Amino acid sequence: MPDLMELYRDLHAHPELSFEEHKTAAKLAKRMKALGFEVTEGVGQTGVVSVMRNGDGPVVMLRADMDGLPVVEQTGLPYASKETATPASGVTTGVMHACGHDTHMTGFIGAAQLLVDHKDEWQGTLVMILQPAEELGLGALAMIEDGLYTRFPKPEYVLGFHDAAAPAPAGTIGYTPGYALANVDSVDITVKGIGGHGAYPHTTVDPVVLGSAIVMKLQTVVSRSSSPLDPAVITVGSFHAGAKHNIISDEAKLQITVRSYSDESRQLLLDGIRRVARGEAMSAGLSEEMMPVVTVEEPYTPSTFNDPEFSEERAASFAARFGDERVMQWPAVMGGEDFSQFRRASPEDVKSMIFWISGTTDEMLTALKDEGKPLPSLHSPFWAPDAEKVVATGAEALASAAIDLMPANGG
Ligand SMILES: [Zn+2]
Ligand SMILES: [Zn+2]
Repeated sequence: MPDLMELYRDLHAHPELSFEEHKTAAKLAKRMKALGFEVTEGVGQTGVVSVMRNGDGPVVMLRADMDGLPVVEQTGLPYASKETATPASGVTTGVMHACGHDTHMTGFIGAAQLLVDHKDEWQGTLVMILQPAEELGLGALAMIEDGLYTRFPKPEYVLGFHDAAAPAPAGTIGYTPGYALANVDSVDITVKGIGGHGAYPHTTVDPVVLGSAIVMKLQTVVSRSSSPLDPAVITVGSFHAGAKHNIISDEAKLQITVRSYSDESRQLLLDGIRRVARGEAMSAGLSEEMMPVVTVEEPYTPSTFNDPEFSEERAASFAARFGDERVMQWPAVMGGEDFSQFRRASPEDVKSMIFWISGTTDEMLTALKDEGKPLPSLHSPFWAPDAEKVVATGAEALASAAIDLMPANGG
């Protein structure tokens, strides 16, 4: 643990943005080589694939993600990040491991060490991957498209973990069989209008009023079109139009996040958005060529599905190892994770599970209980998890799961 925590503080102090994880990848690739893995760098831009063959047996893949976020760290930790970067937006910002991917990487290295130390207890092929750009939802797909399942042994089982700001003591494992995280779609609507003087609205078609009607009507897609038993979210996160008090603009732009679980409900929501945008524009009297332009960003982040039986087996094994009180079933969330891509690339023969590990410190739990102070969330500039508990639990959970899945001499 002392060596791992030194690595953690180093990673925490030097985060890199999505697809910029060059130093992080090089640092960790060096460690994996030293442990005896065959290491390939530059898979899906900055991804790292490490393979260890140890006799006949299944192929098990363990995954950690590497990217930080454009957040100015405010934890006040002695090893807080002072890094800055200039992302695609062109605005220079601080960079922080605000999602805790530094705990994932450190736990991953710990698991690699444990699996090398206990090499006599397992038999098969271990594939350990460090993935770029999870925060963009693009890194997993980039690795798959760069031959993750063709240039390297294709896994039967894939496991990873994510730290969590959960109301449970640090080191508690949360698991969710079935859908665990949502489909994430980003939708843009350009609402066209006919601009003019703010004092003469009758000579215009006001895209602010039309856009507002679309925003309100979109709320009915979830409440009236989608099944009450099927989780769905449509959030308009951005609405931009106009430049001055007394000018009616000729355009409004909406940016929307759409969340769902199944392919069917995703389609229902996207169809609903197109229908509402068009219907409201028609009711505003706009002609065919003035209909709103709706674009759905590609690729999207698909929902994460944890194979139910596989997840229950892993959870039972974790409970036997860590104690029942440290393993809990948690409800699914509408956040997204591109971990989903590893199963989705080959759903008939890849079983996967991502599990949570609480990083909530005792102080945070006490403040929540005694003062009702809310827990800082992931992506918050104040997120300072109990990294030691997350790393220790993550390393042991990943390593023990891999050994369970490929025991020496078939167990
Ligand atoms: Zn994140
Ligand atoms: Zn994350």
